[in-house]
Amino acid sequence: MTEEINLLQFAHDRFDEAAAYVPGLKQGLVEFFKVPARSITVCFPVMMDDGSVEMFHGYRVLHSRVLGPGKGGIRFHPEVTGAEVVSLAALMTWKCAIVDVPFGGAKGGVRCDPKKLSEEELRRVTRRFISELGDNIGPHTDIPAPDLYTDEHTMAWVFDTYDMLHPGESNRAAVTGKPVELGGSLGRRGATARGCLKAMERFIERGGIPGLSALAGARVVIQGFGKVGSVLARLLTKSGAKVIALSDSGGGVCAEGGIDLAAVAAHKRKYGSVVGTPGTGTVTNDDLIGIECDILVPAAIGSVIRVDNVDVVNTKMIVEAANGPITPQADEVLRANNIAVLPDIIANAGGVTVSYFEWVQNLSHDQWTLEAINRRLAERMTNAVDTVFDKFQALQQSVPSEEQSAIDLRLAALTVAIERVAKVTLQRGIWP
Ligand code: NAD
Repeated sequence: MTEEINLLQFAHDRFDEAAAYVPGLKQGLVEFFKVPARSITVCFPVMMDDGSVEMFHGYRVLHSRVLGPGKGGIRFHPEVTGAEVVSLAALMTWKCAIVDVPFGGAKGGVRCDPKKLSEEELRRVTRRFISELGDNIGPHTDIPAPDLYTDEHTMAWVFDTYDMLHPGESNRAAVTGKPVELGGSLGRRGATARGCLKAMERFIERGGIPGLSALAGARVVIQGFGKVGSVLARLLTKSGAKVIALSDSGGGVCAEGGIDLAAVAAHKRKYGSVVGTPGTGTVTNDDLIGIECDILVPAAIGSVIRVDNVDVVNTKMIVEAANGPITPQADEVLRANNIAVLPDIIANAGGVTVSYFEWVQNLSHDQWTLEAINRRLAERMTNAVDTVFDKFQALQQSVPSEEQSAIDLRLAALTVAIERVAKVTLQRGIWP
């Protein structure tokens, strides 16, 4: 069996399912929440190192500004599409609402293969993209951050470009995920992984996974060894869990006794991939999904668990560190198989939470300690999991027993988020 990967349709279907559990949600609001407030496509030329000129397509979508200015990452990937960016921008609206940060959702992307571009070419792509967006981004309009294949280095170029175009202003709050020396927040680099760990801990503490009472001793498989996956692997190992397999775009490695993360990182630095790390076996990314484990963490790209491969999944819990790794049809199978899913809107919300802290520090020309940041992050993640778990239980109790299996944490989380954004929309009223 296969399914069409239509990311916009997925977002709409999931929204509709959750909206049905929001009492009194007016049809006008349903329509309002389903379409982005602003969608920008830019096509721009960049001079390559060999003197040739290549055209690039870039997208920036602001889904909602009900709770505040737009917030969301910029990704560089050969498969970026406008539809993907629209669906990810909507996801950001709900994610910001869940962790209670005063932002609307946004997302950006440039269709390019960062692995084939030199650093100078990447810098020119970034600068030209940001200059094309002009005043559609800014500290009080829409604030970018890192995502897939972009990092603090990219954000330094984003900042510099914006700053050059807006002289005489204090512009640090125009972008988050910057290097610390340039106003980046302590703890931002590891924030998504740290928030994810906290969410997992809390979910397990609340009894969300029958048969799993603690992270210590849990056998974990992680897909993706980038900014999120590599830090999460380290934090999980520190918590006593055992990472028995992990991967990057080149393939995966496994070791039943636990993977030596320092060896994997050193191997990747030297050879560009984790594959071949001494003391490990090799697995494909497809096989990795089916490894028997307690916790499976997709931390790379979207739609990796689909209806055609979901049956091989052999775990107690899936933690969506990546955005959108599970398709709706695969979700249905997981629910039927009693495999819990900690959805992306909670699992990876630590990134936007510390981005919010960075924005607040920049606007107040202050710098908080790492201890203060991690404490505040943990508080928000715990609150988010508690709120969603309470909602999940309340929804389950509110429906007949034959409908209970349709309710999962994603639905509960989306319901909480839609309720919050709907409430503020009604408080504000529709302008004019
Ligand atoms: P990254 O670019 O730092 O790392 C991506 C990793 O995925 C790399 O190890 C890469 O080799 C691997 N990868 C790429 N294609 C793959 C494939 N086809 N199969 C297996 N592995 C593949 O990106 P990141 O920042 O770690 O982001 C990872 C995911 O987490 C993305 O879905 C992103 O949207 C999400 N996310 C990131 C943040 C953040 O703060 N960086 C916040 C929220 C969500």
